[in-house]
Amino acid sequence: MTTTGEERERGFDHTEIEPRWQRTWDEADVFRIDDDETDPEYVLAMFPYTSGSLHMGHVRNYTITDAYARFERMRGESVLHPMGWDSFGLPAENAAEERDTNPRDWTMQCIDSMREQLTEMGFGYDWDRELATCEPEYYQWNQWLFKQFREAGLVERQAAELNWCPSCETVLADEQVEGEAELCWRCDTPIEAREMDQWFFTITDYAEELLEDLDDLDGWPNNVREMQRNWIGKQEGASVAFEVGDYGDVDIFTTRLDTIHGATFFSLAPGHPVAQEIAEDNDEVAEYIETAERADEDELDVTSGVFTGEYAENPATGEEIPVYVADYVLTDVGTGALYAVPAHDERDHEFAEAHDIDIVQVVEPTDDADADPEDIDVQAAAYPEDGLLVNSGEFDGLASAEARDRFVEEFDGEHRTEYNLRDWGISRQRYWGTPIPMIHCEDCGYVEVPDEDLPVELPEFVHTTGNPLDAAEEWKHVDCPDCGADAVRETDTMDTFVDSSWYFLRYTSPEMDDAPFDTERASDWMPVDQYVGGIEHAVMHLLYARFFTKVLDDLDMVDGVREPFTNLTNQGMVLGEDGNKMSKSLGNGVSPQRIIEEYGADTARLFIMEAAQPEKEFAWSPEGVQSAHSFLQNVYTLVSEYASGEVDTGETNDIAAYVAREIDATAANATAEFEDFRFNHALQAVRELVSLLRRYQEATTPDADTFERGLATAAKLLAPVAPHAAEEMWAELGHDALIAEAEWPAAEAPEDYEMERRLVENTREDIRDIVDTVGIEDPQTITLAVAPQWKHRVLDLARNADGNVVGTVMQDEELREQGEAAADFAKELAGRAQSLDEQLPPEREQAALERAAWLIEREFGADVTVQGPAEADPDLVGKAGPGRPAIDIDE
Ligand SMILES: [Zn+2]
Ligand SMILES: [Zn+2]
Repeated sequence: MTTTGEERERGFDHTEIEPRWQRTWDEADVFRIDDDETDPEYVLAMFPYTSGSLHMGHVRNYTITDAYARFERMRGESVLHPMGWDSFGLPAENAAEERDTNPRDWTMQCIDSMREQLTEMGFGYDWDRELATCEPEYYQWNQWLFKQFREAGLVERQAAELNWCPSCETVLADEQVEGEAELCWRCDTPIEAREMDQWFFTITDYAEELLEDLDDLDGWPNNVREMQRNWIGKQEGASVAFEVGDYGDVDIFTTRLDTIHGATFFSLAPGHPVAQEIAEDNDEVAEYIETAERADEDELDVTSGVFTGEYAENPATGEEIPVYVADYVLTDVGTGALYAVPAHDERDHEFAEAHDIDIVQVVEPTDDADADPEDIDVQAAAYPEDGLLVNSGEFDGLASAEARDRFVEEFDGEHRTEYNLRDWGISRQRYWGTPIPMIHCEDCGYVEVPDEDLPVELPEFVHTTGNPLDAAEEWKHVDCPDCGADAVRETDTMDTFVDSSWYFLRYTSPEMDDAPFDTERASDWMPVDQYVGGIEHAVMHLLYARFFTKVLDDLDMVDGVREPFTNLTNQGMVLGEDGNKMSKSLGNGVSPQRIIEEYGADTARLFIMEAAQPEKEFAWSPEGVQSAHSFLQNVYTLVSEYASGEVDTGETNDIAAYVAREIDATAANATAEFEDFRFNHALQAVRELVSLLRRYQEATTPDADTFERGLATAAKLLAPVAPHAAEEMWAELGHDALIAEAEWPAAEAPEDYEMERRLVENTREDIRDIVDTVGIEDPQTITLAVAPQWKHRVLDLARNADGNVVGTVMQDEELREQGEAAADFAKELAGRAQSLDEQLPPEREQAALERAAWLIEREFGADVTVQGPAEADPDLVGKAGPGRPAIDIDE
């Protein structure tokens, strides 16, 4: 007998084994991948922002990719699983201010500590490919790519609204505007909006392709694809001209040209040229435009607007309708002008009510619509659905869709497609980012920094109220590359989303110093096979990365790679124990560091992976952590007992055959679940296997080969998720090589395994029912009798019979010999013809029950006999059906 104390000693000490295996993997280059590998499995987690510490969300994200990468590696794939740092961004500037340091030192310190934490979690990365976006070696390529994009006509200067602090006289980033009152973070002055020219990538040039290709991204979650579709916001419509006062024709864009007869007013965006022209002679309009320009787009008041005193002629009716300048019309959407149909548009309705404008119905529901035409009161609420035209002169009775088509020609319009997607403004008025490689010369305008002068490195950080680059006089003033005159550098830096739009390409050749990446290798290694990260990146990062990839393909920098990520997984949140989002203020956060120290990285990884499927959120649970911890210790203990010869072994027998089949089935099942990212199911299967091995050991003296194969299989299946403990088990089992590099168990389920499993489960269930119903306290023997061959034949016929089961059966000569019994059994089956599952043939059924008999013996404490139809009591056999042996229990 072992004592509890000895058993404790028997377990492993995570504080000792985890760092040891981490060193071993590193020394053995397990996770490094050679440049000459062909098309490796590319597994990638969205790289972290360098905040300084890992949180549970990171741990979950990286456990998923690491487990999958390890799984693929054990399956013999070469695997690319790199890690890097999204290390530019305003928080580093703030941290530097608070700590009286500079963003660079602060960021480097964060990287060091996060790298250490990742290593402590046992994540296996190819650290030779590490990159940090704040390094000139990386961001010089942002600058170079900017120039390439510009040459390709994809960079433009456009006006954009910025936050301006009138007191500091500086532009502020959105993050530097504080609170509802929108105050400057430095001086608490209310900020103003200012239009200024900015650098833009014209992503709208790719709107159609970005939209269309979403259909083929089968490996992406549907909700992400839908979010991108909405973001791109394609609208098919038409443009038609309205004559506005003395200002000539103004084009409008509409998706509802069928409602044109119901247009009762006309609206111009404040930024529309005609609105600006009107403002020159109309103080009220001028004042409105000025206020509107200062207002925040997020707090749109749809009733805000001013009558211009002008009228527009509706080309459909010839009527004059009043022209308004209204904030809800966006300058950059459509044409910045629209006709308003309050009867059929909710926003127009609200505006019309506020300004006392006529509401005229021109569409009514069709006969087969949900709504009754009688019930529609457009004075009370807009009816936005399609229908049949009314009050539309000669077009009354026309269907909406038909009208839309006809009116384009009728009113001299044009078919037109619009997108909600805007160009991507990349200028940021902050220090800690990639300097935009442009120089402004009074004479030459904007001139690119020549390639030989790249990178434009950031100057020393200075503490200032505004943009430190603006204050860096020496850095800022340069000679114009074209004419040599005094010129000034662009002091804006790039949006950090530029950094993350192509980093996955850089991993393929991180050392490259004459190009951002090696075209040939990137073309071979891309796309990323499995990309895992947060849903918050559904639109911006994932759309920008798709845009970059398409452009780079068009620039011949990658060959035929149009999409960067084949499969995408958005991991769910890890909630606090109380079911709320982990937060400092709620005090419900769990620090990965503390869990590693107390239980070890393997426990944290196993708990997280067992808790839920990757996409689902789950709450932290100390019991779950404890359970994961005990499980690992238990498996290890079992391995170690076996390895030290404490498990008596014996002959192979029926039980060994049963266990052998379960081992194969578990490997097959776990493999399929790993492939589908259902790690929790795979791990449940491993738990069941380990529990079976325990019972095997208790029931008999196990066959050494079978038992050891069971332990090795459990260790291998655990290796992706709990890699340190698995290595320890593997070593205990006498292997010199690493389990991280061992071969994944063969994944072929035994023949007819599912049928056998169902048979055994149903039989045990039936025995339980009998014991309960009859009230048998202490069963002594249980006899199972397998149904005869002819009943299997009835089942086969019943399964294939088209309706007439009894007729089909009784036509069979062989079965007619069975007389009444065959007819009765056929009737019985006919009653449940819908659910006749295929069953094992009699001999295999008997063999399967014999293999599983030991489980029944253990459960009921009775001897179990399995009999074939010939040897069993005819009365008993009479009760047996295929897949349902007859059961006789003696007390
Ligand atoms: Zn200020
Ligand atoms: Zn010049």
